[in-house]
Amino acid sequence: MNSEKNRNREFIIRALQLRKEKEQFRSLTSVEPVFGTSRVICKGKELINFCSNDYLGLSSHPKVIERSREYLEQYGTGSGASRLVSGTLSIHNELEEKLAEMFQNEAVLLFNSGFQANVSVIPALADRNSLILMDKNCHNSLIQGATLSRAMVRRFQHNDVNHLEKHLQKSESESFNRILIVSETVFSMDGDRNNLKRLISLSEQFGAMLYSDDAHALGVLGKKGLGLNFQKPIDINLGAFGKGFGGFGAFVGCSKEMKEYLINFSSGFIYSTALPPAAIGALDAALELIPEMDDERKKLHKKVHFFKDELHQLGYNTGTSDSQIVPILIGSEQQAIELSKKLEKNGLWVSAIRPPTVEQGASRLRITITAKHSYSEIDQLLSVLGEWKIR
Ligand SMILES: *Cc1c(COP(=O)(O)O)cnc(C)c1O
Repeated sequence: MNSEKNRNREFIIRALQLRKEKEQFRSLTSVEPVFGTSRVICKGKELINFCSNDYLGLSSHPKVIERSREYLEQYGTGSGASRLVSGTLSIHNELEEKLAEMFQNEAVLLFNSGFQANVSVIPALADRNSLILMDKNCHNSLIQGATLSRAMVRRFQHNDVNHLEKHLQKSESESFNRILIVSETVFSMDGDRNNLKRLISLSEQFGAMLYSDDAHALGVLGKKGLGLNFQKPIDINLGAFGKGFGGFGAFVGCSKEMKEYLINFSSGFIYSTALPPAAIGALDAALELIPEMDDERKKLHKKVHFFKDELHQLGYNTGTSDSQIVPILIGSEQQAIELSKKLEKNGLWVSAIRPPTVEQGASRLRITITAKHSYSEIDQLLSVLGEWKIR
């Protein structure tokens, strides 16, 4: 009995071993943030954090914290049940109404996270008779959602709208019940943007639904920081609050019917406890602050341009990045790790992104610039990067 049990579990040991052999083993590092700054204490040492997606620094904004505390004290730590049972508090509905008004979507539905939304909205929209056309560099949560839907999934070359069009033309002689085009406005590992205009026109031309994940643009890009989906005819405007909003959770901006449909058919919405009051309070305040932060955004974009220009002067390749996400394309996994370690020794925290997150040979450092970084901190990073010999 016992040896049988062990045999069944051997795969765990083997899989971990393989990861270690390939130097792809992942583990968690805990850090202590130096409150309200871009710094963290890690293993007793202060590091400048260049990996955070808290682009505007809102997670430590006094107004965000205050509103979060107010909601916490008035409503308690948990919402007690899923939205469809007894978890819908007035604050959930009010936030949805405010989001709908701000984002000019007919309706908004909150989700507990971007991951949860993607893995449970896509399967509500597509089934085994549907076709999903997805950008090759889409986030894992979108891929998981597509897989769960059991639809036919075809990936088009990254940002290649002509390739997408070919897929759409081909689909005309096939008999799918519906087609869903899935993309991201700002890609999380490349920091580049999709061709949203063409995606919209292609979706209209071929009668396909458009699902656009705006996670990394929210708060940072678009009019008043309301993202790149803002004011665009998109079936599913997906926003996540863990990044520019400095909070937690996600939303879908859509039509009234779509909202009703998702309340009835999206399992991740139906079978999960509603977002806690403290999270709602933080989002409520962030939503008021973000449209007023044009100055902060302007400064942030200026810093990003400065950083990129300097990187290019040093001979680094930042690929197609067109946002606050700045990859330094390295190629070799070993070198990416080496450089990341060298940076850490010098008090700079930059994560090396390697397979399986990106393709083989596409290893990179992924740097995010936020409102909290000073020019002198960026200079420190540039100076250590300048010492590194590009091979
Ligand atoms: C971060 C991210 C998500 C997941 O959002 P969470 O709220 O962190 O779960 C989804 N899509 C994209 C493109 C992301 O970058």
